[in-house]
Amino acid sequence: MYKEDDYIMISALQHFLFCPRQCALIHLEQEWSENYLTTSGNLLHKKVNEGASESRKNIHIARSLRLFSSELGISGISDVVEFYRKNDPDESCCRLENKEGWWQPYPVEYKRGKTKNDETDEVQLCAQAICLEEMLKVKIKSGSLYYGSENRRHEVIFTQELRYLTKMTSEKVHTLINIKLTPKAEYSKKCMACSMYGVCIPEKDHKKDIGYLKLIYGEDD
Ligand code: SF4
Repeated sequence: MYKEDDYIMISALQHFLFCPRQCALIHLEQEWSENYLTTSGNLLHKKVNEGASESRKNIHIARSLRLFSSELGISGISDVVEFYRKNDPDESCCRLENKEGWWQPYPVEYKRGKTKNDETDEVQLCAQAICLEEMLKVKIKSGSLYYGSENRRHEVIFTQELRYLTKMTSEKVHTLINIKLTPKAEYSKKCMACSMYGVCIPEKDHKKDIGYLKLIYGEDD
């Protein structure tokens, strides 16, 4: 169990999986450099979050809910949590203030772009589900990632493996924050899409490393 003062942002998990140095620059050194990808991503979030919560007969849509989990020591804001009315309540259902009946929460996260080849978005959504489970005392089996470029939802099942990866990642981010040590840059293809590129300057470190190796082992042929 973590104290509230020690909570890390849910987004830190995603940043850590993308690159531990990026996570440290943003969450440890508090640097933030907006590139095109994050700016357009933020505009999409703003559009989603600007809408008020709404209710129809069997669905209630809540936007910008504050989420937290003392078990993982994380907090953040949801894009959307949909609540579906259930006539046969089970462990997946909860009560809602000023609403009759039982409701099943279903988190939805909005993303710019298209489906990725890694699990960064799935971990972020799973972290939101773990928060909702703790806050509402329910079990959540699945949620959705909506990708702007594809204009469609992609369902995510919160498997034991994904929950484990989410828990391990949050522990690693807490360790990173506690030891207060920013990892060295490791230049790779993903640096070109990194919001911290201008702050990190990975090629500088890369060149420095090559220069250092040349100094030790002599000139390359
Ligand atoms: S530029 Fe590359 S090494 Fe630097 S933080 Fe971004 S992904 Fe990591």
